[in-house]
Amino acid sequence: MPELPEVEVIKNVIKPFLKGKIINYSIIRTKKLRYMIPINIFKIKNQKILDVKRRGRYIIIILFKNTIIIHLGMTGILSIINNKNNIFYHKHDHIDLIINNNFTLRYTDIRKFGFWLWENKNYKKNIFLKKLGPEPLENNFNSLYLYNYTKKKNIYIKILLMDNSIVTGIGNIYANESLFLSKISPFRISNTLNIKEITILTRNIKSILYRSIKYGGSTISNYKLPNHNIGNFSQYFLVYGRKNKLCKICKTQIIRKIQRNRSTFFCCKCQK
Ligand SMILES: [Zn+2]
Repeated sequence: MPELPEVEVIKNVIKPFLKGKIINYSIIRTKKLRYMIPINIFKIKNQKILDVKRRGRYIIIILFKNTIIIHLGMTGILSIINNKNNIFYHKHDHIDLIINNNFTLRYTDIRKFGFWLWENKNYKKNIFLKKLGPEPLENNFNSLYLYNYTKKKNIYIKILLMDNSIVTGIGNIYANESLFLSKISPFRISNTLNIKEITILTRNIKSILYRSIKYGGSTISNYKLPNHNIGNFSQYFLVYGRKNKLCKICKTQIIRKIQRNRSTFFCCKCQK
């Protein structure tokens, strides 16, 4: 599943092909992804793309009067293909937006768990977007902000980090990695963390997300975009996916446990 760094990378890759260009029309080969595809996306014609943004794990295509909001679900892929090739498609290629620069933005989704929404200009009030907490890489996500939440809550710190209404888009991989880097057990109850630990954790969340974006995110096999070798951050994982391997710091075996149906990897010696 693409997390924040992957979505940021995808946004950065597609944006130069889209910003300032015109969507000539769309080709849609299914009626429904997770939700019905809005009729306005079927009917779209000659609409200028003012900008392409990301909020949490959502990609936002800003048009003159409206907004397209895209969520990639589990297996959604956005790719840029040459218009000459858009007559060729596979059964999971559900949406093509034909752009006036000889390129097509193609949406592929094997499990159809992603979705496309049509919104007015005021997309921030969209039902999915309005409940998102701050972006972890922005200044309003800081140690004081996080400490305010952790001291109020009586839940595992890892569960708290993955709550999108507190901070958006950290996800399982980066929650595991940032807790390891901060030497904090994922099973610590949030209100037992002191401000010093929260300061270290906040700093590590930001630095690990920046590094992942720099290396193109971490889900290698999902993305195939022209001229881009993306998604090799997974080779730098310190703890995620390393069950029974030796801790890179103390050589103790990494443990895997399940928290809220998600894998938690940690070192019982380094992380307290
Ligand atoms: Zn260790």
